Amino acid sequence: MKAKLAHASLVQFPVVEDELVIGGVPIGQLAGRVGRTPFYAYDRSAISSRIADLRATLPAGISLHYAIKANPMPAVVGHVAQLVDGLDVASVGEMHVALDTGTCSSAISFAGPGKSSAELSAAVKAGICLNIESSGELERVVQTGETLGLGPRVAVRVNPDFELKSSGMKMSGGPKPFGIDAEQVPAILQRIGETGLDFQGFHIFSGSQNLKAGSLIEAHDKTFELAYRLADHAPSPVNTLNIGGGFGIPYFPGEQRLDLAPICNNLAEHRDACRERLGNVELVLELGRYLVAEAGVYVCEVVDKKISRGTTYLVTNGGLHHHLAASGNFGQVIRKDYPVVTAHRVHGGPRELVSVVGPLCTPLDILADSMELGQADVGDLIAVLQSGAYGFTASPHLFLGHPAPVEVLV
Ligand SMILES: *Cc1c(COP(=O)(O)O)cnc(C)c1O
Repeated sequence: MKAKLAHASLVQFPVVEDELVIGGVPIGQLAGRVGRTPFYAYDRSAISSRIADLRATLPAGISLHYAIKANPMPAVVGHVAQLVDGLDVASVGEMHVALDTGTCSSAISFAGPGKSSAELSAAVKAGICLNIESSGELERVVQTGETLGLGPRVAVRVNPDFELKSSGMKMSGGPKPFGIDAEQVPAILQRIGETGLDFQGFHIFSGSQNLKAGSLIEAHDKTFELAYRLADHAPSPVNTLNIGGGFGIPYFPGEQRLDLAPICNNLAEHRDACRERLGNVELVLELGRYLVAEAGVYVCEVVDKKISRGTTYLVTNGGLHHHLAASGNFGQVIRKDYPVVTAHRVHGGPRELVSVVGPLCTPLDILADSMELGQADVGDLIAVLQSGAYGFTASPHLFLGHPAPVEVLV
């Protein structure tokens, strides 16, 4: 068996005396403070500096929103809310988390197929913007507005007639449950004009986890082009154009960090052109993963160490029930390892070729498949990096009935 390439270049956190430090606290000490393992820890200052760096590169006049489904821990959302211009939610549960941060309802939008009548009613009462995903949903919103005597704020979520190339998860192009097919949008806009709805603009989100600046630039070019075509049919001026997100982060050896400069330069050109075409439109970039993923770590503890026919297994108390994405079962086609380190032997010390697995009775419960790690024994901590997004809440905690992990913002 050959050792996989080390993920060393993906270690974003400080390492002091070869121990990972999260939020200024060495991880062993942090584990004591948390009181039990496994846990997720999110580094407040890492989130702040990621957002500050992005803001410094983004052209003026582009608003930044946080899509909170990436990490809806209330403390994280509360922290991020201070640093961005708005929040995007995908359920009423998330809407409450967003409102609890004190963010103004005018800066919160709600996207997602299959919003229930109760959700529509709660959103309309809260005054947040509903991104309409179908003609049926539009009619339910009209009804809701009439029943409540309110004029719901709506944007049209468009399923574009193009896809975001090289995306980890495609959310557009071809048949999709998300948004309204671009060719049906003119009729929807006409219908909105006949109702008492308060039309805000368009939401065009085409995919997730993209590391290719060229693909994102191409998608942005097509997004603005599509928005101009659709704007001709709008019942009132377009106030907002949400161009989605899709900015990816490196997870695997060899993946290059996204090059923001060309993307931002291109957005600056579009901003100017858009002002000429559509007037004073608020342009919104809506990111989840990019803002929080690299600021999070999942920490579990070695419970057993065993050798089976030449393979050394570190059996931990953490696994796919807490961190489905790291096990490779959340959208990966060919399983690859997330960056995993022995928390107190990140770069040095004796090394050992091991597979890190969880306690579940399934061969899918893998955190590292024959990786060279700092030697670890029973009681030592193993950390999975790049775990700040689509971790805790994107995992099947109930599977096998182990306790849920703890979450802390440090
Ligand atoms: C999930 C989602 C996002 C965030 O995607 P990331 O890849 O995490 O940036 C943004 N907008 C919508 C509508 C989403 O569903």
